[in-house]
Amino acid sequence: MKWKLFLLLIPLCLSGLEQKGSLQWKELNQRCKLVLKKRGSIIIIDSRNGYIKGIINESVAIKKSAAPGSVFKIVTGIAALRKDKRNRFVKVYCDDRYYIIGKGIRNYRIHFNRLEAEVGQYYRCSKYGGHKRIGFLSALKRSCNYYFFNLGDKIGYEAFYNQVLRLGFGQKVFSTLKEEIAGEIKKEKLRTRQLLSYIGDGYGIQTTPLQMAHLVYFLANNGEKQIITLKRNGKKHISRRIVSESNYGPIIKIIKRGLIKKVSTSTDRIYQKQFISSFAGKTGTSGAMNSLKTSGWFIGYGPIENPKVAFVVFLSEGTGRKALALAEKIFMGKNISKTYK
Ligand SMILES: [Zn+2]
Repeated sequence: MKWKLFLLLIPLCLSGLEQKGSLQWKELNQRCKLVLKKRGSIIIIDSRNGYIKGIINESVAIKKSAAPGSVFKIVTGIAALRKDKRNRFVKVYCDDRYYIIGKGIRNYRIHFNRLEAEVGQYYRCSKYGGHKRIGFLSALKRSCNYYFFNLGDKIGYEAFYNQVLRLGFGQKVFSTLKEEIAGEIKKEKLRTRQLLSYIGDGYGIQTTPLQMAHLVYFLANNGEKQIITLKRNGKKHISRRIVSESNYGPIIKIIKRGLIKKVSTSTDRIYQKQFISSFAGKTGTSGAMNSLKTSGWFIGYGPIENPKVAFVVFLSEGTGRKALALAEKIFMGKNISKTYK
């Protein structure tokens, strides 16, 4: 009797949870609940069929919106590549300061709530001192603000704004879900605001975690699958498509090369419960309305080569880095029950 049990356990231990046909969604949900209590939301989608397999704090996921921050550089990138694929070869020299109108004597930092710029005012990059010479993929990976201000300026606000609408932002994901909000996409007239839009900030762009989940599902499938499904109270809600065109594949493949990658190489016993061995994604930190606090985002999918799950970690108060750390805890199997007691 004993040896039979032993034989049963061996494959379980060796394979981890990912190797078996499907992810253990129930346990994954449990882990999400452990890492995130209230202020935020996590959405996990089976990236092979679009079914939403778990939402932590549903009311936040569908009824709260925030500026997406640098996660939106993905959208600015898509807009630039849609306009001209050669934009992926654009290189800039990021010296930290992106001048809004022109260089001058009055160099001081503009805060997000200042409405119009004067000569010599600038926005800062995310990295103190700047990234120096930098190209498209690297700028996406290292989240260079300077690069995306420049890229937005290159394609123009109109092209950017139209692409944002074309990706369905400002619309509900499920037309049948009464409580869901649509977020907000405001057409900005001021140059200062337009620049901030390119890096997902400045309050003109408000997205829900659900909208971000829809986007990352689209990315995970190279633009080939666009419909997600939510089962709720015995009712099935089926999403709209993301875009009406179907030729996004090549562009998305380029964008994906610029995402952050996390690969678990550890053979440590503590990692044996990992759900996916790798994931890729993008962090975002955005200013919260009427507050000094920020919101944190991480959207991602994994395993990188053949995704089984697409997910969003949203923290109402937090940073992108923190959201990424939670994603690692959830998916890469560190023993979280002990750390969160
Ligand atoms: Zn930079």
